[in-house]
Amino acid sequence: MNTELRPFAVCDANSRGRAIIEPLPQSRTEFQRDRDRIVHCTAFRRLEYKTQVFVNHEGDLFRTRLTHSIEVAQIARSIARALGLNDDLAEAISLAHDLGHTPFGHAGQDALNGCMQGHGGFEHNLQSLRIVDRLEARYGAFDGLNLTFETREGILKHCSPAKARELGELGRRFIDGKQPSLEAQICNIADEIAYNNHDVDDGLRSGLISVEQLEKISLFGRHAAEVDQLFPGIERRRRISEVIRRMINAQVTDILAESGRRLAVANPANLADVAVAPPLIAFSASMHVENQALKGFLRANLYRHYQVLRMTNKAHRIIGELFSAFMTDLRLLPPQYQDLAAAEGDARAVADYIAGMTDRYAMKEYQRLFSVGEL
Ligand code: MG
Repeated sequence: MNTELRPFAVCDANSRGRAIIEPLPQSRTEFQRDRDRIVHCTAFRRLEYKTQVFVNHEGDLFRTRLTHSIEVAQIARSIARALGLNDDLAEAISLAHDLGHTPFGHAGQDALNGCMQGHGGFEHNLQSLRIVDRLEARYGAFDGLNLTFETREGILKHCSPAKARELGELGRRFIDGKQPSLEAQICNIADEIAYNNHDVDDGLRSGLISVEQLEKISLFGRHAAEVDQLFPGIERRRRISEVIRRMINAQVTDILAESGRRLAVANPANLADVAVAPPLIAFSASMHVENQALKGFLRANLYRHYQVLRMTNKAHRIIGELFSAFMTDLRLLPPQYQDLAAAEGDARAVADYIAGMTDRYAMKEYQRLFSVGEL
């Protein structure tokens, strides 16, 4: 860990601790311990087989939720360390932030949320928290991972006021309009940098978007011009990689400068000052505009590409039909989820089961339930 933490960084000494008090770690910080617990949990391993944009079986080189989470952690650690913040906490939050994602990416979440209307809804953010607070069953003394307040706070990126009230202390900042730790703010922005850039890479690799289209987007275009000047005639794949690494670097450098400026103005003395300050980790105004343009491009040309929408459509069908089959007859659920249904309600248990599935497990389960052929 960075030993030179600023006074407004989260650290063991100012942490609000764990819900269940445990002996102090012997040779690591509390946040290293959180990170280690996340890396060892079941939901973390499942991220390898969950979609980001492309379904896992569509190609071996595309990002999955696991590689996405590792890229977020890399970017978040870099920013945290450079600003004198707690990079172990940033890493822990990054690695856990997508644990609650359903199979089939956002399409899966929308479908499951649709099924859960009237049963409290479904939101991947809240589900990530539910996994680390309740669903992981690995410790003798407690359910979940018993993570520190600050890691849990970072996982809960957004939350409706109604849900916030249910969550007590952890939800309070959404009601009071306060900011989370700077480490949590870093993870939010690192998530965005990671997915915009790797979706450009994966989008190009898939052939659904082209370099010519992207050259018209300023963030990509100006770095492509720089690469062409430095490496005339560079081979196509290397050119793309050079442009993307420059885009990531430009965004990280921009955040360090802008956040440094904001920190100097707000001059927080401690965590309480950070909570009541405006957001202190941010892009500059001009980088914000460039970032929005890139996001808009990806939304229009990649996420709404007909080949992606076909998968989206399939995801809706698979998740919708699994949900109704289980709700119609809970005896189709594995026994531990039948127990969960008795404790927490049928729909929530069914949602927990479906959300935990990997893409291919969901497809297999669909075949097992509905196919009259083999399996
Ligand atoms: Mg993410």
